[in-house]
Amino acid sequence: GLSGEAYRRRHEITVTGDEVPSPLTSFEATGFPSEILKEVLNAGFSAPTPIQAQSWPIALQSRDIVAVAKTGSGKTLGYLIPGFIHLKRSCNDPRLGPTVLVLSPTRELATQIQVEAVKFGKSSRFSCTCLYGGAPKGPQLKELDRGADIVVATPGRLNDILEMRRVSLNQVKYLVLDEADHMLDMGFEPQIRKIVKEVPARRQTLMYTATWPKEVRKIAADLLVNPVQVNIGNVD
Ligand code: ADP
Ligand code: MG
Repeated sequence: GLSGEAYRRRHEITVTGDEVPSPLTSFEATGFPSEILKEVLNAGFSAPTPIQAQSWPIALQSRDIVAVAKTGSGKTLGYLIPGFIHLKRSCNDPRLGPTVLVLSPTRELATQIQVEAVKFGKSSRFSCTCLYGGAPKGPQLKELDRGADIVVATPGRLNDILEMRRVSLNQVKYLVLDEADHMLDMGFEPQIRKIVKEVPARRQTLMYTATWPKEVRKIAADLLVNPVQVNIGNVD
């Protein structure tokens, strides 16, 4: 509609794809389940950020997304909340492996994502495990064995644990590559490709990146199916 177009212009949102839904410009408009909405309102947020407003309705249609938006734009909840909604619908046993998998470049970022997942998923009682290098594997493996609906991982450590056959990704339905540009800069492309081979082809894939260089375009073209692209601001 016209108001959706006006919102996009005002917030410098450009979208590429077929029949892209209008942005959800208020939390009330999202139709999120009450236990999720409650946590968002508890956080004191007044409105969705532009990337949230535009990527939520697309993600809720189960479509693949490439989102290019700078740091601090609220991308984490942009992908976490639709992931939560997938989880609510799935009947997967978390002891058999995660349903939602988020790849993140560093321990610090992965930990921040886990904190956000625990905070906003609290009322929904999702379990979330964080896997990263530079720390012993034992406690991470123990947590995995207890079951995790959501795994947030750096590609290196997750790949190590996969090679040990200590986690299965065959229940993953929702795969997020967060800070894809940063992960490629760190040389994680081989690990990412190995990990994605273990995730079922029937999945939803979301890629979040602050920049859009050709290396990122290439991996997006290989791993995503007919994605809708959402850019916030100028992207080169
Ligand atoms: P990005 O991943 O794009 O760098 P984050 O997801 O880390 O951004 O979000 C940046 C900050 O904005 C976080 O502290 C987060 O809690 C906060 N935030 C997220 N969504 C909103 C919102 N709708 N309104 C206000 N602040 C928000
Ligand atoms: Mg982020």
